[in-house]
Amino acid sequence: STEIKSDIKIAQEAEIKPIKDIAEQLDLLEEELEPYGHYKAKISLDLMERLKTKEDGKVILVTSINPTPAGEGKSTITVGLGQGFAKIGKKAMIAMREPSLGPTMGIKGGATGGGYSQVIPMEDINLHFTGDFHAITSANNALAALLDNHIHQGNQLQIDVRRVVWKRVVDLNDRALRHVIVGLGGPLQGVPREDGFDITVASEIMAIFCLATDIQDLKRRISKIVVAYNIKKEPVTVADLGVEGALTLLLKDALKPNLVQTLEHTPALIHGGPFANIAHGCNSVIATKMAAKLADFVITEGGFGADLGAEKFLDIKARAAGIKPEVVVIVATIRALKMHGGVPKDNLKQENLEALSNGLENLQKHIETIQAFGLPFVIAINRFVTDTKNEVQKIKTWCAEQSYPVALADVWEKGGDGGVELAQLVLETINSAENCFAPLYDVSSSIIEKVKTIATMVYGAKDVEFSSKAQKQIIEFEKFGWDNLPICMAKTQYSLSDDPTLLGRPTNFTITIREFKPSIGAGFLVALTGDVMTMPGLPKKPSALNMDVNEEGKAVGLF
Ligand code: ADP
Repeated sequence: STEIKSDIKIAQEAEIKPIKDIAEQLDLLEEELEPYGHYKAKISLDLMERLKTKEDGKVILVTSINPTPAGEGKSTITVGLGQGFAKIGKKAMIAMREPSLGPTMGIKGGATGGGYSQVIPMEDINLHFTGDFHAITSANNALAALLDNHIHQGNQLQIDVRRVVWKRVVDLNDRALRHVIVGLGGPLQGVPREDGFDITVASEIMAIFCLATDIQDLKRRISKIVVAYNIKKEPVTVADLGVEGALTLLLKDALKPNLVQTLEHTPALIHGGPFANIAHGCNSVIATKMAAKLADFVITEGGFGADLGAEKFLDIKARAAGIKPEVVVIVATIRALKMHGGVPKDNLKQENLEALSNGLENLQKHIETIQAFGLPFVIAINRFVTDTKNEVQKIKTWCAEQSYPVALADVWEKGGDGGVELAQLVLETINSAENCFAPLYDVSSSIIEKVKTIATMVYGAKDVEFSSKAQKQIIEFEKFGWDNLPICMAKTQYSLSDDPTLLGRPTNFTITIREFKPSIGAGFLVALTGDVMTMPGLPKKPSALNMDVNEEGKAVGLF
């Protein structure tokens, strides 16, 4: 039939296996599986100790060109590639981020893939799932409450209430909470001060959660979080408040990765979900490493395009966790390439070979970036029904001319069958291509040098400008001994530059670093270019307007 089914319809019609059947494929011990209902389970971290000496599976990183409103389908390809690997008889596992409720109720499609390449139960995963984000929200807000209580109870640490940097969080898009005043109402209600809320996925706790290698490492990182500065302008940390134990306790179950399945019963770990701007935008290190113990191939993704998600995966996550990816899959769609080539969103269904050709410059830049990391790559064209034969041929010819490996992926329409060609090409590339992966910069080089390396080598910028505030901060950070950390760039995802309107491959531009934000617990310095939203708002017609529960108690209208 020609009917196009919604993602949720496909997901709800699918046959779903009990989660213990999925666990059986993975040779988990019974006590290592902690079921949450019938179709979700957490996996005990004891497994990592049991399989300590087992050789790790191969990690495949999925990234994309700069996202456009036309959509790239990175999660769809990640899931579809996992299913494709299963089709060719390989033991593969997917590792992905957990969706945030903010965008779910707001604008975007789900974060669980699409069409016939989805992880299920998609309603659960997109809504409360196993409660990890609630645990992270609670840990974040417990710290805020303990900090305000410390100030109220005599403020022994002499915290300057004007220099508290720890914010409260909620996992919703709620612009009314961006700036608030707490402690109003008189002496019994605490000390009044300006405060604000971020979305949970922007919390440093989330970033830490996703970089921690085990529970002790989680605690060690939490203890280093800088929450405020004292009246001498020295940093005050969680360790100074003495609450790292309590916060770690709140996270101990959340830290276990969540096992689910794809529409074709390929096992998937879905765990953690930091922002890809203010944080590193990848699922937890623990999930990626656990998947590598359980399967021969792990397919995982980084948020946004290769300039953000992949760069941070490779420079921050891989470095912190000692992960060496085998190959990078760069996802592009013909629609998005045409947008990069100058076509407005409403005209994307028409064939336009010239715009496509121009848009390929954006893909070319990301290829060069992956090459700069010494990694082999494969281009995946996420096929849309509107793509024309000529357009597909145009890309294939362009790739052939430069000997770029490319596969057409039809996983949205055909599931794993549509991902076989891509899976085979990925496998071939792993087996044949040279891999001399190394992060782009040395963490011990100066802050300025590190930022410049990313801006010039990954974005193609001519130069970097540092605001006077940023320059002052650099001096301060050197004094505090924070300069030996990797850099987490916060930049618009839409452009290689810091101007979201510059599509394609902009040249001759300068990146401006407005300010730094130290995330000492996570172990990186965030470099902010332009305004970065850490508490998004809802659009005029939020997707919540379509959502409902039907008479049988089932979710409807969720994507
Ligand atoms: P990303 O990970 O890049 O944000 P997703 O994989 O989440 O993108 O896909 C976003 C939306 O686009 C989903 O609703 C999905 O169903 C849809 N989509 C993805 N690929 C295709 C395709 N080839 N054809 C039609 N729709 C698609």
